[in-house]
Amino acid sequence: MSYGIRRKFYLSKAWQDVRKSVWLNQNLLCNRCHRPVYVDGISDYLPKGKRRTGIVHHKVYLDDTNVNDKEITLDINNLEGLCKDCHELEHNKGQSTRNNYYFDEDGNIQSIGGYGQP
Ligand SMILES: [Zn+2]
Ligand SMILES: [Zn+2]
Repeated sequence: MSYGIRRKFYLSKAWQDVRKSVWLNQNLLCNRCHRPVYVDGISDYLPKGKRRTGIVHHKVYLDDTNVNDKEITLDINNLEGLCKDCHELEHNKGQSTRNNYYFDEDGNIQSIGGYGQP
């Protein structure tokens, strides 16, 4: 599994730009629960403990086969801004172990729900 490729994607300028427009379109609200989220570089400063982190989710999950396909990775129609809670729920829905991880806003891999290693 090439986590490196995906990490690189999440750090790319193109992704940073599209991610920003997703949040601006949604007025920094979670698309599902409509609570305000904190997005680095856009939100007004909040102390760490008060942040509800926002994560831009790919409706078609990213994997090694599509990470270089801009129509999936950078298409705003495939993207949805979610708070951390809704994002975890979304990924926990799928039983496949493959999807039990995601990348945070800094491009670091995070596992979801303790189903094992990412
Ligand atoms: Zn939410
Ligand atoms: Zn996701």
